Amino acid sequence: MNYNISALLQKALRLEFLSAEEGLFLFENAPTTQLMYVGNAIKKLHVPHQKVTWIIDRNSNTTNVCIANCKFCNFYRRPGHDESYVTTIEEYKQKIDETFALGGEQLLLQGGHHPDLGLNYYVELFKELKNLYPNLKLHALGPPEIAYITKLEQSTHIEVLQALKRCWVGLTAGAGAEILDDRVRRLISKGKCGGQEWLDVMRAAHQLDITTSATMMFGHIETNMERMEHFVALRQVQSEKPTNAKGF
Ligand code: SF4
Repeated sequence: MNYNISALLQKALRLEFLSAEEGLFLFENAPTTQLMYVGNAIKKLHVPHQKVTWIIDRNSNTTNVCIANCKFCNFYRRPGHDESYVTTIEEYKQKIDETFALGGEQLLLQGGHHPDLGLNYYVELFKELKNLYPNLKLHALGPPEIAYITKLEQSTHIEVLQALKRCWVGLTAGAGAEILDDRVRRLISKGKCGGQEWLDVMRAAHQLDITTSATMMFGHIETNMERMEHFVALRQVQSEKPTNAKGF
């Protein structure tokens, strides 16, 4: 399909949604400087106060036990493996103390799909961490972990997220999105939730006013079109968030 670059950039500047095909055309044909200019202009429309913020946090893994078997992952160990671990409270304390000492304030908590760690384990862990460190911010669990816990508990995303929200600050990590297309996911991370479920977990989080983030792991087997469809899917979920929620 042959589009007009200028017309598509004008459309984007009017904040009209581009299709994946239109995005692909720009990605493959528009000069990078023009894309940067328009991207920055759209950012200014969305964030008029022009403030950029950051946070110092530390990644900490809850467990390396995982049954998802992602092809790119060198981190996980099967249940019962000699090198498998579940992080202890003493280890968290050391990591949090070090983080605070360096001016950090948040822990990003993620780990594998451990078949023995259900909702109650995470609820008790987060409660204990918050009791020990009331000022600690928790950026915890991504959609694949939440989907897995939901399956273990035979529950719903909303119920699991509600229980987690009661004991943490209200921020869900955007991990495990990889590329949201299921052709790609079947090939690289078959044991993780599908793209639709990843998006559904985030929809549910936004309904509960839990702020989320989104990742994209690219440069492997995905096509450019699948990258564009990834963006379109995220934008769709963002467009559905309740007005007062931040969403992604
Ligand atoms: S779900 Fe996470 S920990 Fe498990 S294999 Fe995949 S990337 Fe590794």
